[in-house]
Amino acid sequence: MSRYLSGRLSEFKEYIPGEQPKDQKYIKLNTNESPYSPPESVKRALNAGEIENLRLYSDPECRELKKSFAECYKVQSENVFVSNGSDEILNFAFMAYADKKVTFTDLTYGFYKVLADLYGSKTEIVKLNCDLTVPVKEMLNREGLVMIANPNAPTGLVLNKKDIEDIASSCKGVFLVDEAYVDFGAESAVDLINKYDNLLVVQTFSKSRSMAGARLGMAFGNAELIKDLEKIKYSTNPYNVNRLTQRAGIAALKEQEYFDENCRRIMETREYTKKELEKRGFFVTDSYANFLFAESGRTDGTSLYEKLKEKGVLVRHFNDGRIKNYIRVTVGSPEEMKIFLEKTDEILEETR
Ligand SMILES: *Cc1c(COP(=O)(O)O)cnc(C)c1O
Repeated sequence: MSRYLSGRLSEFKEYIPGEQPKDQKYIKLNTNESPYSPPESVKRALNAGEIENLRLYSDPECRELKKSFAECYKVQSENVFVSNGSDEILNFAFMAYADKKVTFTDLTYGFYKVLADLYGSKTEIVKLNCDLTVPVKEMLNREGLVMIANPNAPTGLVLNKKDIEDIASSCKGVFLVDEAYVDFGAESAVDLINKYDNLLVVQTFSKSRSMAGARLGMAFGNAELIKDLEKIKYSTNPYNVNRLTQRAGIAALKEQEYFDENCRRIMETREYTKKELEKRGFFVTDSYANFLFAESGRTDGTSLYEKLKEKGVLVRHFNDGRIKNYIRVTVGSPEEMKIFLEKTDEILEETR
């Protein structure tokens, strides 16, 4: 930190992304990326002609991309916002709606807290129930910005549609539903955006659509909410989605079947891996995401994480009171999960 940094940032704690170490080759099960490649048509879309076009700015209105989204999700273009990763939408939502208050749960996506601190928002943190479910009653009748990840991270647990509607209808401010993991078996709230004018549904290409590196996020909502986000975008980064990502996104949106099939495989691998962990005495939450959240009764979370890393398997561990004995394991390919289970067996054997 330099001595020039604004005073209010000196104590501020930034978000720490899952590690991307280069010291050896790891089986990477720590940042919830897809084990499957983008479809061939996306590779073809990023051709020499598009590289030639890189001398030109990208379309700031992202018209063609928004039109593709509108067709795919059965909404109007005016109901779609696209961004440089969905983290950018979370940031814009804070800029737009968090001046009164923000509400989120104590165990959820770490970025919410980081943004709340960055903007100095008045924050209400709702404690998850003992079984790590969201206490829906506590989320009702809130003012300002209310945020829920559904499925939640890192638990993988979901709220049903009725709960989402109850929160939306009672909310006096904006209700943001972060659906980063919705394609792995949960129910989306996108079809509710015309029913609740305060509902913003955020999704991403980073998890189910194998394009984390392209940085493409999207939000669906009432046209007025989308205009708010556009206003922030034009005040910070008008060309937020680059040319190549716009092309890749348009191509990917034509490949729904390909992605559905990948999600189906990932859900199958998830259920298989969950059963295998349970056989080994783990408690595993009922995850609807592309990760498992698991606690071993036999070894603590920190040492399990560290020993797996020594053996070349990276998982995520959160050093946070109630969940410090859990590890979060991305569902990779069946081959990767086989190695994860083998290494876990070795560790359990060693700690016997
Ligand atoms: C991964 C993730 C995001 C961010 O995704 P990007 O689109 O890659 O920025 C947002 N919310 C949750 C809950 C996530 O897990």
